[in-house]
Amino acid sequence: MKNNFDYIIIGSGIAGLTTALTLADSGKVAIFTKKNPSDSSTNLAQGGMAAMVGGEDRKEWHIEDTMKAGDFHNKREAVKLLVDDSQEALLWLKEQGVLFDVKPSLEAGHRLPRIFHTTDFTGADIQKTLLKKISENKNIKIFKNTLAVDLIVQKNICHGIYVLTEENKIVPFFSKSVVLATGGSGQVYQWTTNPTVATGDGLAIAIRAGAKTLDLEFVQFHPTAFKAKILPLFLLSERLRGEGARLVDDKGHRFVDELLPRDIVARAVFEKQKTSEVFLTMAHLDKKEIIKKLPNIYKKLKTYGYYLTHDRIPVTPAAHYQCGGIITDLNGKTSIKNLYAVGEVAATGVHGANRLASNSLLEGVVYGKRIGKFIVSSPRRRGSSVSNLIQRSNFSLDSLLRGNDSKTLNKIKTNIQKLMWEKVGIVRTKKELSGALKTFKSYKKQLEKIKKKRGISYELIEVLNLSEVALAITQYALNRPKSLGAHYLR
Ligand SMILES: Cc1cc2nc3c(=O)[nH]c(=O)nc-3n(C[C@H](O)[C@H](O)[C@H](O)COP(=O)(O)OP(=O)(O)OC[C@H]3O[C@@H](n4cnc5c(N)ncnc54)[C@H](O)[C@@H]3O)c2cc1C
Repeated sequence: MKNNFDYIIIGSGIAGLTTALTLADSGKVAIFTKKNPSDSSTNLAQGGMAAMVGGEDRKEWHIEDTMKAGDFHNKREAVKLLVDDSQEALLWLKEQGVLFDVKPSLEAGHRLPRIFHTTDFTGADIQKTLLKKISENKNIKIFKNTLAVDLIVQKNICHGIYVLTEENKIVPFFSKSVVLATGGSGQVYQWTTNPTVATGDGLAIAIRAGAKTLDLEFVQFHPTAFKAKILPLFLLSERLRGEGARLVDDKGHRFVDELLPRDIVARAVFEKQKTSEVFLTMAHLDKKEIIKKLPNIYKKLKTYGYYLTHDRIPVTPAAHYQCGGIITDLNGKTSIKNLYAVGEVAATGVHGANRLASNSLLEGVVYGKRIGKFIVSSPRRRGSSVSNLIQRSNFSLDSLLRGNDSKTLNKIKTNIQKLMWEKVGIVRTKKELSGALKTFKSYKKQLEKIKKKRGISYELIEVLNLSEVALAITQYALNRPKSLGAHYLR
């Protein structure tokens, strides 16, 4: 049957594509991706990928830097594996055709230069290269504009996935190995650097199927995104502050040491926003140097009518990275049999309570390759018959689309994002978390009712997933009574 594949992967970011390429020699691979294959966080990664390649650097140092950033909440074994395999990951990407600049650069939290990049479009270059390889591989088929809706799980064994197709049909696909590589959940917040596809679908799907999760309270916020009506928000990287950019209020007064760690600066900006707009300025610096050193950011801001050389640029902190996720072991196995998770959606233990910059692209490659190899080496299992599964699965095929109330859904979505930003964001209090939890519970109920009455649609699934993820993050935050890493309690 054509809906059967040896391997199913949800997501076409760095993690999903690496896993697919690793599996393709051993069977037919289906990749489902909800929009265009390039719509992902991977495509937006400007900085680069960390790798320990010897020279002056030492494995132990990269491990320590990662553990320090993660407030020592990381799983050392997972970090060690990340670092041990980093050189191989870099070589593999080069073999696929990624043209890295020769010299690595330095980034906050790394004690010496170990960040490999292709100017400032590293993620986009990697993704383009891997997608080209995939298009040349007869064993891999990409289904674009295809939204994964729910897993087909029986007795804690995963057999496949229901998807909403480009033609607006709900269709089951079956496989003995399903890999969730759906990325993060930044869209659950009002302000985020994440693309619109990052609605936490994989996490919500896994939670609904009963998979175990971990560390969801640790959401990393970037201190400076360009505050404008563009989606996703454009990131103004740490490099600007490194070059001497200042953060000022609407009277032009500085209020924080711009070179302090990411979370401290993010909190200062968040607090200042209660009484004033916040701006980033480089007007006091040499104009020619700015254009020479930051050509792409300069050009991008110019398209929105801002000149980095002399304008004050409005900024806001923004949700940037989901440090926790679906619990996996070091081979990507989740608590559900035959279900794997990789990349930002997974909680391997690599990032602990906060992520070290440039470790996430690396995680996608190292763990993508590892999971692919593990699945190939695992004994093949027999599956249940297709019709039997459809009848007994947790998702009824007759709940097809009967239209939606877009206005209500949009309102709920906006309210969730605003509430998450204000009450479950950069600074949290127990009282506000409890209040938010109640509201999210009632939204979830309301959305379930809409689903029952009208059937599902793309829009409803996304909002339902956002409510599921909002609830989970809030509950995790409430369960941790003391500040740690990216979780800050007042
Ligand atoms: C602006 C920005 C800059 C960054 N810079 C860096 C950097 O310099 N270095 C670094 O290491 N990290 C960086 N990161 C983080 C890094 O880019 C991500 O963590 C990493 O790319 C995640 O890869 P992934 O494959 O797990 O997910 P993604 O690349 O986000 O891919 C997820 C895929 O899943 C698909 N998907 C989601 N839900 C569904 C569904 N229901 N059905 C079907 N498909 C679905 C999406 O469409 C997408 O294709 C940055 C992130 C952002 C947002």
